[in-house]
Amino acid sequence: MNLIYLDNNATTKVDDKVIKVMMPYFGEKYGNASSMYEFARSASDAIKAAREQMKYFYNAENEKEIIFTSCGSESANLAIRGMLNMNKNKRHIITTKVEHPCVLNLYKQLEKEGYKADYIGVNSNGELNLEELDEKVNSDTALVSVMYANNETGVIFPIKKIVEIVKAKNPETKVFSDGVQAAGKINIDVQDLGVDAMGVSGHKFHAPKGVGALYVNSKTLITPLIIGGHQERGKRAGTENVPYIAGMGLAAEMAKDALKYESTEVKRLRDKLESGIIKRIYNARVNAGINNRVPNTTNIGFEYIEGELILLHLSDIGICASSGSACTSGSLEPSHVLRALNVPFTSIHGSIRFSLSRFTKEKEIDYVIEKLPPIIEKLCAISPYQDELNALKKLKGF
Ligand code: PLP
Repeated sequence: MNLIYLDNNATTKVDDKVIKVMMPYFGEKYGNASSMYEFARSASDAIKAAREQMKYFYNAENEKEIIFTSCGSESANLAIRGMLNMNKNKRHIITTKVEHPCVLNLYKQLEKEGYKADYIGVNSNGELNLEELDEKVNSDTALVSVMYANNETGVIFPIKKIVEIVKAKNPETKVFSDGVQAAGKINIDVQDLGVDAMGVSGHKFHAPKGVGALYVNSKTLITPLIIGGHQERGKRAGTENVPYIAGMGLAAEMAKDALKYESTEVKRLRDKLESGIIKRIYNARVNAGINNRVPNTTNIGFEYIEGELILLHLSDIGICASSGSACTSGSLEPSHVLRALNVPFTSIHGSIRFSLSRFTKEKEIDYVIEKLPPIIEKLCAISPYQDELNALKKLKGF
C-alpha cells in the first residue's frame, strides 16, 4: 500500500486541474496584473475570474467583497484588526476557547494592547455555550470571532444563530467567522449566515499553500494590514500572486460543486473508519462524535496510550494522521481544544485526528481498519496502566 493520507485538515493535495490552470501564469503569462499593456491582460483577467469564483464559493453579493490574501491566518488578522481599527472606541472582544491560534494568539495580543477579551467555552460534545455568549455581548463589544468548523473535532458552530444572538444584543458588534475548516466540506453562504467577514485558505481545499480569500461585507469597513499600492482596492497591498489566485479560484469552484460527494461518500468513509475502529478497539472513544460535524473528520481517543507513539507506528506503514492540530503537534501538551471539551486525562494524550478528502479511497480506509488494532494492542501491552486497561476490556466485553 502506498501513502495513505488522512490528514486533510492539516493540508490537502493540490488537484491536478488546479496545477494545470496555474502553470501558464508562471510561464508565458507572467505579466503584472496592474500593468496597462495588453500582455498583462491575461493576468488581470485571471484575477477577475478567480474573484467571481470566490464570490460563487461564498455566495457573496458582490465580487468587490472578496480580498485575496496569503493564507487563513492573514485573513483572520486582516478582518479582526481591520474591523477593530474602524471602531476604536469600543474595547470589548469575544471569541471561543477552541479557535485556531491565528485567532486565539491575536486576541492575546489585543489584550496586551488594552482590549478586554472573553473566551466562550464548549461542552463535552464541542458545542458552544450560546447562553454564555448571549450574556457576554454588551454595548462595548466591538467584535465577536467564532470559527465555522473546528479543525480538531470537525464540530460545526451555528454561525447564523450566533450572528442573530450577537446582533440582537448589539447591532453594531461585528462578527468574523474563521471558515478555514468549513471550506470545501460544508456549504458556505455568507448572506444566509449574516456574518460581516469570513476567511478561508486555499490549501485546505486542494489549492496551493500560501493563498487565501477574505470575504468582507460591502457595508463593513476595514483598514489594511499591509499598506502600499492600490491592489485589492487598497485593503491588501502587494503585487497579486496570479497563479495561486487563479488556482484557488478553480479549486473553490470545484470544491463547491463536490459538496454533495463530500456529504455522502466522504461521510460514508469517515463513518466506516470511525465505527470500524470503535468495533475492533476496546480502548477507543470518539471525541465530540456528534452529527453536527464536517463530514471528513473524526477525532478518536485511545485510552491509556500515547498519541505520538500511535502516529509513529502509523507513519511506519505509510499512514498519515495527526494528534492535535498541526500547529500544536510536536509538543506533548494536550491540545487546547480537547482540554476545552474536558476530554478525560485517560484519552486526551492518546487522541488522533483522521481527516479524509474527496481523494480518499475505500481500500485505504479498509487498510487502516485492518492495521490499526494490532498497533494499539502492542502499545497497550507496554502501557503502565495495565489494571485500568484490563478493567476497560472487561467492561466493553472484549
Ligand atoms: N483557521 C483554522 C481553523 C485552521 O485549521 C487553520 C490551519 O490549520 C488556519 C486558520 C490557518 O490557516 P493558514 O495555515 O492558511 O494560515
